[in-house]
Amino acid sequence: MTIAVHPVDAALDLAASITPRLTELADPIDRGETPPQEAYDLIRESGLLAAMIPIENGGLGLDFADYTRLLAELAAANGAIALGFNMHNVAIGSLFEADVDALGSTGVAFRDWVIDQVVVGRTMFASAASEPATGARLRGISTVYRRDGDGYVLDGHKSFVSLSGVADHYVVTARPHDDDSDVEVSHFVVSAGDPGVSFSTEWAGTALRGTSTAQMFLADTRIHADRLFLGVEGMSLFKAVRDPHWMAAGYLGAYLGLSEAIVDFAAQRLGADERRRSQAADVQRLGAMTVALQATRALTTAAARGVVDRRSDQATNATVYAAKHHLGETAQSLAAQAVALVGSAAMAADQPLQRLLREVQFCSIMPAKPADCLDYVGKSTLGANMFDVSNHGW
Ligand SMILES: Cc1cc2nc3c(=O)[nH]c(=O)nc-3n(C[C@H](O)[C@H](O)[C@H](O)COP(=O)(O)OP(=O)(O)OC[C@H]3O[C@@H](n4cnc5c(N)ncnc54)[C@H](O)[C@@H]3O)c2cc1C
Repeated sequence: MTIAVHPVDAALDLAASITPRLTELADPIDRGETPPQEAYDLIRESGLLAAMIPIENGGLGLDFADYTRLLAELAAANGAIALGFNMHNVAIGSLFEADVDALGSTGVAFRDWVIDQVVVGRTMFASAASEPATGARLRGISTVYRRDGDGYVLDGHKSFVSLSGVADHYVVTARPHDDDSDVEVSHFVVSAGDPGVSFSTEWAGTALRGTSTAQMFLADTRIHADRLFLGVEGMSLFKAVRDPHWMAAGYLGAYLGLSEAIVDFAAQRLGADERRRSQAADVQRLGAMTVALQATRALTTAAARGVVDRRSDQATNATVYAAKHHLGETAQSLAAQAVALVGSAAMAADQPLQRLLREVQFCSIMPAKPADCLDYVGKSTLGANMFDVSNHGW
């Protein structure tokens, strides 16, 4: 008798085979001593790039809830690499949630191409949306495309692209060059070797060096028409409004994993300290941190499960934004409490907490930002139609 293995268990097994090494690499990559390439090679070789691809197509067949759990495991080991890996899934994950019968022949051909690239070619995708003047918003972007024969020509500048120089393909947002309407935004796949594609040197940030983030430039970049995402123009904003979970909350698992790592570290330190662990105030502080972690994990899990059970639903989306907000606030608060609890070890260069402290700050910078989350939840509570694009910051 064969016992069916649940997809998430198979993915977690693959993750477990690389998390020890990912953990070892976290600080050297953060300090710039080791390039992140080795960590992404581990992800590639593990087969995890196919996490979202259906089992019948040779992938691991995860849904958004399974994925969130997988990402938490990876992030507890190495937050920056988990965030980079997330951008691969942000770029392609939505393809495997769509009803294949509704895609049309061009859409199916595009989806099949992506599957082949990931499953057979083990290539990695990235998501290049943010721009200097607009941040992560889709409206008002300056990257433009024009139709040219059997293809498109793109020109633009993307301000932050994780996996720069690591990924093979970049899913880029652009608007028509001759249309000022800011709702007409499309996604295109540009490959690293395409003409006119270049990258700046790596972003010199104080954390998340492992995301391998740089600026991307497109100058007269010609791509074939079949690199238009799903073969349909003008769908990006519509998609972000209907199904915001990838853009707004693909990161949930990553920040959950970072939060878990913070509480684990605090618990280990307290457990190893004879004097502190017999002080009620310290034990209770750890108890409060554990309660906060459990609460944010429960909300995150409910949001991710909601996406699987009731996708494209306003109440589900409100929970997704609520979870993004709650987790971002909780992660930062847990980091501050951990500092108070563990004392000087928090800032020790050879301990992970100083890195985790810097990494969790980014949850408020990545979209959807705290104010945007609260805006969505507040409007939704007041009964606004959140499928109306004009109610959105995107
Ligand atoms: C390590 C790291 C990795 C990243 N990886 C990626 C990635 O892989 N892909 C990607 O696409 N992005 C990525 N980003 C970008 C990120 O998602 C944000 O878009 C970026 O950090 C900008 O945030 P900000 O807070 O600096 O700017 P924001 O405050 O968001 O704004 C940037 C500009 O937009 C303007 N603006 C903001 N909101 C509005 C509004 N409502 N109306 C009009 N103008 C507005 C602001 O005035 C400002 O000029 C990454 C960022 C970092 C730090």
